[in-house]
Amino acid sequence: MSLHSNYAEIRDAVAKLCADYPGEYWRTLDDTNTYPTEFVRALTEAGFLSVLIPEEYGGAGLPIEAGCVILEEIQRSGCNGSACHAQMYTMGTLLKHGNEDQKQRYLPGIADGSLRLQAFGVTEPTSGTDTTRIRTRAVRDGDDYVINGQKVFISRTEHSDLMILLARTTPREECKKPSDGMSVFIVDMREAVGNGLTINPIKAMINHSTTELFFDNLRVPAANRIGEEGQGFKYILSSMNAERILIASECIGDARFFVERARDYAAEREVFGRPIGQNQGVQFPIARAYVELQAATLMVYHAAKMFDEGKPCGSEANMCKLFASEAAWHAADTCLQTHGGFGYTQEYDIERKFRETRLYQTAPISTNLILSHVGIHELGLPKSF
Ligand SMILES: Cc1cc2nc3c(=O)[nH]c(=O)nc-3n(C[C@H](O)[C@H](O)[C@H](O)COP(=O)(O)OP(=O)(O)OC[C@H]3O[C@@H](n4cnc5c(N)ncnc54)[C@H](O)[C@@H]3O)c2cc1C
Repeated sequence: MSLHSNYAEIRDAVAKLCADYPGEYWRTLDDTNTYPTEFVRALTEAGFLSVLIPEEYGGAGLPIEAGCVILEEIQRSGCNGSACHAQMYTMGTLLKHGNEDQKQRYLPGIADGSLRLQAFGVTEPTSGTDTTRIRTRAVRDGDDYVINGQKVFISRTEHSDLMILLARTTPREECKKPSDGMSVFIVDMREAVGNGLTINPIKAMINHSTTELFFDNLRVPAANRIGEEGQGFKYILSSMNAERILIASECIGDARFFVERARDYAAEREVFGRPIGQNQGVQFPIARAYVELQAATLMVYHAAKMFDEGKPCGSEANMCKLFASEAAWHAADTCLQTHGGFGYTQEYDIERKFRETRLYQTAPISTNLILSHVGIHELGLPKSF
């Protein structure tokens, strides 16, 4: 049903792997707020999480389009790639801006799965989306930086060996631009936890392993700073197009899951002596969700193509994420409605996926912030903040 036909072999292989992790597996984890360790291990061992790492560092060196196919198919199967999608794209900051020594030190391990880099620490409780107001400070002390502060909603930190962290190295007031004066660090979680870093899990609407972090004089070697001091915001931004495009591909995978489930149920379920899908009141919303899904698919793979051709694609990446997250949400709502009361039962997996797909309108970037980007950069309207 996907409009996209490249990498069909990868798509089939992912679908086959996911078939070993049916709804029952995810329901049990959801009930107990448990991380899908076996699923992530299987994806890692199959090499799916390292496809974007260049061959010279042990990855497959494939374009982002292949990453999109993998994440789309995971979501379409009813699984949840958000447990490990960051292993695919978080390394982008290191790959683009790290020095050769850092790349040699970490990328081969990330590629073979022995090192998990799937934590990305940006959000803070008091700054919200205004990243220039983060308060976590990194102060140089000899060969180390000493880090103090707090982060919130940092996902998978308990299931990651490394974290990419954004912290202020120069107070905002002393910088020419508010976006100056922030730096990026690779934090080795295995050494940091208990030595200045405390992790508190956050109970949330979905099983997402998201956490709150407290830094209390955590020492990080200066050798772990990525790129130049003070340029971190730029480095983080430059990795965001990949993140947006990959997350958007998860959204279209979710939308396909919901449309297919709604179609099957509408064809099977008989009420008033005929399939409910024969009623246009049931059929048309599913058809509409399908149309939105197809449009979103075109947007996502168009953005992926631009990214792979090295073209600037900030707006395309943002717009496809916005449209795909809403297509997924409309499909989710339609699927739930099509299932009547049964949609609310855990057994059908609709309610779980419904909760999970709602996140994409908030994280990694909320819809309003994308609209603001489009208003300013595409339409030339005045900046509101
Ligand atoms: C489950 C989960 C996992 C996450 N994982 C990570 C992670 O791994 N790493 C990480 O760094 N972060 C993570 N986040 C954080 C996520 O990126 C933020 O929640 C998101 O970017 C929104 O920021 P905020 O929550 O601070 O909302 P706020 O910035 O407080 O905004 C609240 C609302 O107001 C709107 N708003 C704010 N300012 C404006 C404006 N000027 N104009 C119009 N509307 C505005 C926003 O769109 C939003 O709807 C995660 C969040 C969740 C819920």
